[in-house]
Amino acid sequence: MSALSTTRVTEVACTKCGACCVAPDIAALDKPLGVPCVHLGADDLCTIYETRPAVCRSYRADAMCADIAAPTRTERVRRYLAVFDLEAEAERVRESAGCSMRAARSAHIEEPGVERTR
Ligand code: SF4
Ligand code: SF4
Repeated sequence: MSALSTTRVTEVACTKCGACCVAPDIAALDKPLGVPCVHLGADDLCTIYETRPAVCRSYRADAMCADIAAPTRTERVRRYLAVFDLEAEAERVRESAGCSMRAARSAHIEEPGVERTR
């Protein structure tokens, strides 16, 4: 019997707290670290749930969800980031207004008189 088959997998229920739609950076959504996904509603629920991307569909609640539980979304996100020691990095991203390569490229392309080199 393999070690894997003897490991008990504990199911963790998602409380729909919204923290995982804010804290992590999600390349498929061009979502920077610590910035709320544009599809996250004020009620912490996904507004495009039926058509959300694969990366969101495959995300599963785990033990960390209980560890970061808090009354406010801000505190839950802070705790999520703290787990990975990314609070300072997220603050830097927020200060740079969520700058991303895609956004920078769009601005560059839309700038009149600027020709793309590739
Ligand atoms: S952080 Fe965990 S509990 Fe909160 S919405 Fe995401 S999966 Fe669900
Ligand atoms: S698309 Fe929906 S599930 Fe995915 S990060 Fe955004 S709000 Fe969350």
